[in-house]
Amino acid sequence: MKWRGSRQSSNVDDRRGLSGGAMATGGGILGLVMYLLYTFIGGGEIDPTQINRQLAPESNQTSLTPEEQAEDEERAAFVKVVLAETEDVWNKIFAEGSNQYSEPTLVLFRGGVSSACGNASSASGPFYCPGDQQLYIDLSFYEDMQDKLNAPGDFAMAYVVAHEVGHHIQNLAGTADKVNRLRGQLDEAEFNRYSVMLELQADFYAGVWAHHAQKMKKILDPGDIDEALNAANAIGDDRLQKRSSGQVVPDAFTHGTSAQRMFWFKKGYETGDINQGNTFDDPSLKN
Ligand SMILES: [Zn+2]
Repeated sequence: MKWRGSRQSSNVDDRRGLSGGAMATGGGILGLVMYLLYTFIGGGEIDPTQINRQLAPESNQTSLTPEEQAEDEERAAFVKVVLAETEDVWNKIFAEGSNQYSEPTLVLFRGGVSSACGNASSASGPFYCPGDQQLYIDLSFYEDMQDKLNAPGDFAMAYVVAHEVGHHIQNLAGTADKVNRLRGQLDEAEFNRYSVMLELQADFYAGVWAHHAQKMKKILDPGDIDEALNAANAIGDDRLQKRSSGQVVPDAFTHGTSAQRMFWFKKGYETGDINQGNTFDDPSLKN
């Protein structure tokens, strides 16, 4: 992605330097790992009680070498540019619909963080908290994408940010609320289907963003869309579950299969039309 020299968003709350304080407790490693596998790119569906139960936040007293520090700074600069690019695109799309876009804040943290959705550790992966309208990212996630999930490339990182912003769009549109109200009315398997639709719509919005960012500013390098598709492929729930348990249990899906994630990102990217992102109407997702 062409990003150097571009505007960096100022809607960033950089908490990387903060110590873990009260959150510096260990434990729950197995729970952490399981939770991690199910919530990579976790977003709107985050349930605070679940985070608190499953994630005993780890200490974030990590000290970085100068090289790691430099790398971290580079990643921070990159995600600030990506966030700014999402602001430009969504401000324009909202204005075209005679609405005003309310820009979300990005919280950068290292190790552990507390949000209106509860405490989280870096193991929870990037997430969006509707309660405070903030995106939370521990930049070390990008190393995991590269090394553990085989999803390298700067645009894979951009896709993750754009996906979380997609959850913010859903929050503004009231879609997240509607789905949340179904929690408790539906059995778990049925509710999970709605969670998947919500996740896939966030992927769709990430694609819509890429479409318009390219149109407005030609941000894409050759191979960028493939990087995003590869990331969508690598972090589908079926892949993650295979990695964790060796078998796929469709009813426990909350993010969609690799193929579904790729399909919806691509649809958003190719059409650039927010009106085509009704994942809730997709017959293949209904049962
Ligand atoms: Zn998500």
